[in-house]
Amino acid sequence: ADHDDTKFEAVSGKRVAVVGAGVSGLAAAYKLKSKGLNVTVFEADGRAGGKLRSVMHNGLIWDEGANTMTEAEPEVGSLLDDLGLREKQQFPISQKKRYTVRNGVPVMIPTNPIALVTSSVLSTQSKFEILLEPFLWKKNELSSKLSDASALESVSGFFQRHFGQEVVDYLIDPFVGGTSAADPDSLSMKYSFPDLWNVEKSFGSIIVGAVRTKFAAKGGKSGESRSSPGTKKGSRGSFSFKGGMQILPDMLCKELSHDELNLDSKVLSLSYDSGSRQENWSLGCVAHNETQRKNLHYDAVIMTAPLCNVKEMEVMKGGQPFQLNFLPEIKYMPLSVIITTFTKEKVKRPLEGFGVLIPSKEQMHGFKTLGTLFSSMMFPDRCPSDLHLYTTFIGGSRNQELAKASTDELKQVVTSDLQRLLGVEGEPEFVNHYYWRKAFPLYESSYDSVMEAIDKMEKDLPGFFYAGNHRGGLSVGKSIASGCKAADLVISYLESCSNDKQPED
Ligand code: FAD
Repeated sequence: ADHDDTKFEAVSGKRVAVVGAGVSGLAAAYKLKSKGLNVTVFEADGRAGGKLRSVMHNGLIWDEGANTMTEAEPEVGSLLDDLGLREKQQFPISQKKRYTVRNGVPVMIPTNPIALVTSSVLSTQSKFEILLEPFLWKKNELSSKLSDASALESVSGFFQRHFGQEVVDYLIDPFVGGTSAADPDSLSMKYSFPDLWNVEKSFGSIIVGAVRTKFAAKGGKSGESRSSPGTKKGSRGSFSFKGGMQILPDMLCKELSHDELNLDSKVLSLSYDSGSRQENWSLGCVAHNETQRKNLHYDAVIMTAPLCNVKEMEVMKGGQPFQLNFLPEIKYMPLSVIITTFTKEKVKRPLEGFGVLIPSKEQMHGFKTLGTLFSSMMFPDRCPSDLHLYTTFIGGSRNQELAKASTDELKQVVTSDLQRLLGVEGEPEFVNHYYWRKAFPLYESSYDSVMEAIDKMEKDLPGFFYAGNHRGGLSVGKSIASGCKAADLVISYLESCSNDKQPED
């Protein structure tokens, strides 16, 4: 404890700038503040939350960004506990009922081996391929020739080797379309499914790996569990909050004072100078309608703005321009989110559960959307009881042009898909449209070069740390974990600085 106290004193009061008030930046700021550091968050937008964005309107509640999150990362659980958010957590009704589409008809996705055998989502041959995967899976041919080539493998290549093409077409393709707006041919396995990628490295077979990991987790290791006694956190699947996902950034903002959270403050420049002994970083930012730039000084910077925004910043090091042209161009997936409500009697075949994801192949049956969440089935308090509220996603790599279409056109597209899937009749009572020009960065097979560039930035710029969904995963949970990790790195960095400087003091 003594050691911790001296560490604490060494960094307390140090000034850290956090750029971006998405969930990663806010989580980082919260952690730093709780350790006694002096934080300032800069957010270009007039609101905090980034890709978490809930709206309340006329008795309806919907999310235009992330709809649910999970607690797979320990950082998420700690944050929910510390913020007192457990009581606001909202778990979807029948969340295990998730659907894909085959031959124009919604089919429930099997969640266990018995359901798989009886399901009509796959042919008998594919079912055998899955059950016999421990014996039938094929090695990546490239990896035996080129040691690093497996890092380049696509998501479709990987699942094809293990489970066959039908699994890719009817389970993997709709899943990645619905969770990252991407397609399995472009996505890198290593960056999109790092856990499964590692399972193959350790066990070969995914099924064997999954079974062994499950047994290892059950046997003997309970002492290591971080969860409070009696609850198995993370096991309850996806969740939101009463009032929508925005509650999470709102609660994080409440922990910051007015001076600590600067909305409408776009960071334009950063400058590092090792000459001075403290506050080596100077940050220039500007409000939306102003030209006057403010310059402020910090000991370290956590950057969580998307890399496309970082590339636009002017960075200096030791009085010289520090060119960011080594940062690769990242592809971003555009996405439109359409909210519709229908009176219950106009929905002839409503489905209970989480939602439906549409495989690309089903476009031949006329479907144009990526998928729809049954928002008010999951969370009945999201609309009056005589309505159903749906959240539909359109665009992504499958249909980049359609993502940009007008609200009227998209309303027709959504109504037509919901007519086929759920038997809706007539027009929706209510429509809302939100367009994300850059919803998700694409973790494509060349993503190694992006990770290397981020590492280079951090290495060449002392006290600069990058976090957020461009690194380590797209999900809300992974973004939170990334922000918390950056906060820890800042603390270690500042400790090491103060150790270096002590002899001179
Ligand atoms: P962001 O939320 O993008 O925050 C970055 C912030 O930086 C922004 O607020 C931006 O305005 C700010 N910024 C940019 N430039 C500057 C600058 N120069 N100066 C100051 N600030 C700047 N994940 C899930 O887990 N579950 C889901 O169901 C889910 N659904 C999703 C649905 C959609 C439509 C979208 C778009 C995403 C979804 N995600 C989902 C992904 C998840 O929401 C995001 O990956 C995560 O919220 C990203 O958080 P972040 O803090 O890394 O980035």
